[in-house]
Amino acid sequence: MRHGTKKNILVAGGAGFVGSHLCDALLASGDKVICVDSFLTSSPDNILALQNNPDFTFIEQDICDELDIRQPIAQIYNLACPASPPFYQADPIHTMMTSVTGTGNLLRLAARHGASFLQASTSEVYGDPEEHPQREDYWGHVNCIGPRACYDEGKRAAETLCFDSLRTGQVDARVVRIFNTYGPRMQPNDGRIVSNLIVQALRNEPLTIYGDGAQTRSFCYVSDLVDGLIRLMNVQPNAGLPVNLGNPGEFTIAELAEMVLTMVPTRSTIVHRPLPQDDPQRRRPDISRAKQLLHWEPKVALAEGLAHTIAWFSHTLAEKPVVQRA
Ligand code: NAD
Ligand code: UDP
Repeated sequence: MRHGTKKNILVAGGAGFVGSHLCDALLASGDKVICVDSFLTSSPDNILALQNNPDFTFIEQDICDELDIRQPIAQIYNLACPASPPFYQADPIHTMMTSVTGTGNLLRLAARHGASFLQASTSEVYGDPEEHPQREDYWGHVNCIGPRACYDEGKRAAETLCFDSLRTGQVDARVVRIFNTYGPRMQPNDGRIVSNLIVQALRNEPLTIYGDGAQTRSFCYVSDLVDGLIRLMNVQPNAGLPVNLGNPGEFTIAELAEMVLTMVPTRSTIVHRPLPQDDPQRRRPDISRAKQLLHWEPKVALAEGLAHTIAWFSHTLAEKPVVQRA
C-alpha cells in the first residue's frame, strides 16, 4: 500500500476477466478505482468482493455512450471489448463500434481530464501472421472482411485513434498488444481455449480441438499481464510505441489439451471439430521492447498458471453449474 494522495483511476471493462484483476491490483496499491462496464461479456461476481470497498465505484454503462464524469481522473485503462471469438462475433457491428466509438469517447474523456490513457490492443492486429515471432514493427496480415475483422480491425482503428491523440498532443496515450491471457474469472462458457479445455475436462466431456491442433498460441498468466499493464501506464517518458505483452512460451493446441488431460483427473478424450475461418496458425510475442522499456517479463510458467486456473474453475463450477459453448 502506497502512502500519500490516492489517484482516481478509471477502468473501462473493469468487471471483465483481466479488468477485475487490474481493479484488485490498483486498489491494493492504494488508488481509487472507477469501474465502467456493461456486463456484456462478464459476470458481476468478478467484482462482488469490491462492492463494499469505499475506494471502488461502479458505473454500469456501455462505452459507446458518451461518459460524463465530473470527479478528477488521473488515468484511464480501456479494456472494454469482448475478447473471445464467439462473443465478439455475436454482435460484430457492436464489437467494432465498441473499439471505435467507445475508445473515441474514452479518449475525449481523457483529454478533458488531462488523464493518461492505456488502450488494451491485441496480438490479433497481426492477424494470421507471416512473421514469427511477432515484433511490434510488423504491420500484420488481417482479412478485413472476414468474421474476425470486427475485432481485429476495430482494435487496429482504436490504435490509430490513440496514436493520433498522442501526436496531436491531446492525450498521453499508450497501447499494449496483449497475447492470449488466461486465469481465474474467465467465463466458463466464453469459448476460449483454456476455459473450454478445463471446463470440459472437469465435466468428463470430450475436449474439443479445432482443426488438427497444430496451430500454436503463447499463454500468459493474468497476474503477469496486470503487472505489465501497470508498468506501461506509469513508465516515463511515454515511448509513444505499442508494446507486446505475453508469454513467449509457444504451445500447440494439441499440447495444451494433453497438459490439461494430465492435470485434471478426468475420463475425457479428445474430439476434433472444424477449424474456424481465418484462425491464426502461429502466434508468439517478441517481448524485447517490454523487457527494455518496462523491465518486464512473465514469471508464471504455463503448468503453474494452469494449476491455479483449474483449481478456480473446479471450485466455481461446483458452486454454479453453467452451460458451456463449444
Ligand atoms: P472480457 O470479455 O472478460 O472483458 C471485457 C469486459 O468489457 C467485460 O466486462 C465486458 O462486459 C466489457 N465490455 C465489452 N464491451 C463493452 C462496452 N461496449 N461497454 C462497456 N463494457 C463493455 O475479456 P478480457 O479477456 O478480460 O479482455 C480485456 C481486454 O483485453 C479486451 O479489450 C480484450 O480485447 C483485450 N485482450 C485480451 C486478451 C486475452 O487473452 N484475455 C488478449 C488480447 C487482448
Ligand atoms: N480452439 C480449439 N478448441 C476450443 C476453442 C479454441 O481448438 O474449444 C482453438 C482455436 O481454434 C484457436 C486456439 O484454440 O486456434 C485459440 O483460440 P481462442 O479462442 O482461445 O483464442 P484466439 O483464437 O483468439 O487466439
